[in-house]
Amino acid sequence: MRAIVAGRLFGARWPLAALAACLLVAWGFGWLPAAIAALMFAVVFATAALAPRRATRKIEPDRQGENGEGLAQISAADLASAVSDAIIIFDGEGAALHANEAAVAAFGPFAAGFPLQRRFRAPEMQQLIENMLSGAMGSSVVDYVERVPIERVFRATGTRIQANGALFVVVFKDQSETRRIDRMRADFIANASHELRTPLASITGFVEALRGPARNDAAARESFLKIMQEQTGRMARLIDDLLSLSRLEMKPFLPAGIEVDIRETIDSVIDSLGPLAREAGVEVVRQFPEGPVIVAGSRDELFQVFENLLENACKYGQSGGKVVVSIAPEASAESETSVTFRDFGPGIAAEHIPRITERFYRADVDTSRGRKGTGLGLAIVKHILTRHGARLAIKSEVGKGSAFTVHFPARVKKA
Ligand code: ADP
Repeated sequence: MRAIVAGRLFGARWPLAALAACLLVAWGFGWLPAAIAALMFAVVFATAALAPRRATRKIEPDRQGENGEGLAQISAADLASAVSDAIIIFDGEGAALHANEAAVAAFGPFAAGFPLQRRFRAPEMQQLIENMLSGAMGSSVVDYVERVPIERVFRATGTRIQANGALFVVVFKDQSETRRIDRMRADFIANASHELRTPLASITGFVEALRGPARNDAAARESFLKIMQEQTGRMARLIDDLLSLSRLEMKPFLPAGIEVDIRETIDSVIDSLGPLAREAGVEVVRQFPEGPVIVAGSRDELFQVFENLLENACKYGQSGGKVVVSIAPEASAESETSVTFRDFGPGIAAEHIPRITERFYRADVDTSRGRKGTGLGLAIVKHILTRHGARLAIKSEVGKGSAFTVHFPARVKKA
């Protein structure tokens, strides 16, 4: 530090000028004014020397040399390995010179010198490589689909990387996930619109009938209004479920450290669905342990999970006349807690089980609609359970009933 200050003080030429000025003052006016002038110079001088310099940062020549050399030592292969997209470098004959790890993972290994046009036979890739080699284009972009072992879509960009020599690179950006999300979003909107359009069409039809042929028919009016009310209820339920899903998607991660007594939560769910169970003629049997059963999670969200599962068990398992709700509490803080909703209804055919948690998927569309289903209940359940690190297991046998089990993770991880 001292060296820097000294350097600043003595490195400049103007201290000599100041000294000369002081001598001139001493010669003309005497030593006292000269001493005052020297003091003033000293103050200005020290302030200027110690003031922080403006924040311009130059690379010193010797460091620039160091960095430049470091950069020169990095090979194209080093750079390619630092990139997560697949990269293949090839020469003017179209022979592969280097493929980074991502390219090997996506397309398999490349022997040095292997002709790229033999590996990528799709017409769009042939064209891209041809454009590069012929020098017709400096760079070229195509969408390329790799079909084996699973279908993946890439945006391939070919560029000449040496102005004079013949060295080229193709960068493959994997677009599969973006495409999948786009397709899911489009499907979701199509399904939601279809679900809303059906009751809307029904309401429109009845309104027309009431304004036309059924205008003076009191009995028809009464029955039509009842159907219209049911259809508006269906639209409202669908909108509620859609909002519920979208709110869940926008919610941040579940805060850590919150706990809930699921025994008490399930008790409240059973009480709140009492009228529905009675109407369906279903007896709800509780097989609960003594005392509270604590898991990590949000009471409101888990209430929604248990409500959906119990409602489904009562709605679809109605013919069994009984639903058993059992809690298998954790034996210790290191073991899982699980809750099972078991009904004795018609069950679910094996081919539907892997798909029934998908949005709008129903094993039996007419039964679901007839029971006021929206096709979104289990999708909401799955979403909430994922947020809780929990999972849903479904066991079902046609003619015997179904068991939906929620497995909560252990609160304390095993050492
Ligand atoms: P929905 O609103 O149609 O009930 P869900 O997402 O809750 O939608 O359920 C999806 C489908 O799974 C239902 O349409 C039904 O076919 C089937 N399902 C759910 N629970 C049961 C059950 N306990 N027994 C038989 N089928 C069920």
